[in-house]
Amino acid sequence: MSKIQVMEADLANKIAAGEVVEKTMNVVKELVENSIDAKASTIKIELLDSGVKEIKVVDDGIGMDKEDSVLAFSRHATSKLKKLDDLFNINSLGFRGEALPSIASVSNVLLKTSDGKTGTIVTLKGGEVESVKSGDIKKGTSITVTDLFYNTPVRLKYLKSLYTELANITDYVNKMALSYPNIKFILTNNDKELLNTSGNGDLLKTISNIYGVVVASKMMYIENLNDDYKISGYISYPELTKSNRSSITLLINNRVVRNNEIVKAILESFHTYIPKDRYPYVVLNIEVDPFLVDVNVHPTKMEVKFSKINELISLIYDTISQKLSEKTLIPKAIPTNVEDNYYHNFKGITYEVNDNLYKYSEKETEDLKEETPSKIEEIKFNFDTNSKETEEEEEKNIEDERIKDMYPVGVVHGTYIICENDKGMFIIDQHAAAERINYEKYYHALSTHSKNTIDVLIPYKIELPSNEYLILEKHFDILKNLGFDFEEFGTNTIIIRRHPTWLPKFAPLEAIRKIIDIIVMNEDFNEDKFNEKVSITLACKMSIKAGDAITLPDMTYLIEELRKTKNPFTCPHGRPTIIAYTKYDLEKLFKRAM
Ligand code: ZN
Ligand code: ZN
Repeated sequence: MSKIQVMEADLANKIAAGEVVEKTMNVVKELVENSIDAKASTIKIELLDSGVKEIKVVDDGIGMDKEDSVLAFSRHATSKLKKLDDLFNINSLGFRGEALPSIASVSNVLLKTSDGKTGTIVTLKGGEVESVKSGDIKKGTSITVTDLFYNTPVRLKYLKSLYTELANITDYVNKMALSYPNIKFILTNNDKELLNTSGNGDLLKTISNIYGVVVASKMMYIENLNDDYKISGYISYPELTKSNRSSITLLINNRVVRNNEIVKAILESFHTYIPKDRYPYVVLNIEVDPFLVDVNVHPTKMEVKFSKINELISLIYDTISQKLSEKTLIPKAIPTNVEDNYYHNFKGITYEVNDNLYKYSEKETEDLKEETPSKIEEIKFNFDTNSKETEEEEEKNIEDERIKDMYPVGVVHGTYIICENDKGMFIIDQHAAAERINYEKYYHALSTHSKNTIDVLIPYKIELPSNEYLILEKHFDILKNLGFDFEEFGTNTIIIRRHPTWLPKFAPLEAIRKIIDIIVMNEDFNEDKFNEKVSITLACKMSIKAGDAITLPDMTYLIEELRKTKNPFTCPHGRPTIIAYTKYDLEKLFKRAM
């Protein structure tokens, strides 16, 4: 007796703490995971008012007999309770038998179930069994939860808006569908169908069911393994992005989990391919021995920790980077299917698809306006191309046919270079292209610690406000490591006598000031990040601007240099450098082809 009271108190505490059923999503999660445990091949989730009024989950699983169907709602549901060890085992869905009584205690429940032999109907109100009847029911389980939180009015206010509740549920069901492509998921709200997956086991088909055909057509399969991990799944072409990270689904042994380090590794590998604050579509499954995973046992979050995380991160990073580097990633100006591309209107929910294809976080708008003297020569003459390393790289790059030969025919708005070849017409953003070229050159010079330096004829005097000078003083070593030769000169002033050769020749002083700015502003002196920041800043400031005049030979040179870059498709801010109208697109536009 006392034991029961302790458990009930525990349950009451759990509800009070809002750990189990604080959101309608958690109720859906519990019911859906029960259906998966019951080996269902179809799971139908029907909501009324985002589940606040009613949640009904119907499956065709193994069902329950009469005894289990009552026990399922009791805290002593031994048949449903898993061993504590199971909670740590990533293969188990965990928490079965714990949340069901909690859900029942704050709602009205109607359970109809059949194991194929006996059909049982159980009704509960506020956690108390009201009736148990036999009935003619087909195999499987149907649970209807109505008036959630009816007896705890205070809790209702914790429910977010109906829209947010529905968005959470949709996100969750989408991710379950991605974890279980062999189960058919149907989700409706107020009779409107939000999701209906094929359940045929094909992950790409499920991606298409969830995100639409356009997204599915722009996904690339990846697969790789090392001693401890096997990864597989799909990543999107960089042109396809979303404004939040819900487009990234992480699975471990086919189970949805969260892990920030892995998301970071994925974003790192897409770095400079996509704009800041945009996210690729990724569905990544990691197969691993459960012993290498530590699951944070919280019923609503699936935070995981890995042993050998670094091995996993480099496996993911290398695999994605490799994939991105081997594909031609020129976005087509005319989407394959125009109707589908504006909005993928998925029966009531408009998914962000192509409307953001060309929407970029415009950090760059200012630099487009700002007119700094810039020359295409910067690209031509600024780098020591005699080193052996560069020669080798050039040879490698010449073979690279990701951007085919193309010939400039002119320039539009002083900004967009029009090119052609037998495949079609291409438009190159002259600033974005030059910026990519310069970025990679600066980055290469910085990360290989290129020590070629040059004397300046008249030493540069740089004076700083005293607060900035104090910070710079602490980081003189950074300037020295970059190859600057300088000395302190009076108050808050340094005098520079030698600088690295990779500095832009036409505006070295401006470049030095930029570098000092970055040193002074940056708190974090991770070398790689610093090099990148310097490279992006200099590339942006020192590259030909939109509106700057450019000659045909310079255009040809620009295209040639762009072809040699590691990632010719985006500028370091993630904007596209080049877009394509295929010959067929043009023929279609002029109705020469249908
Ligand atoms: Zn720029
Ligand atoms: Zn840019």
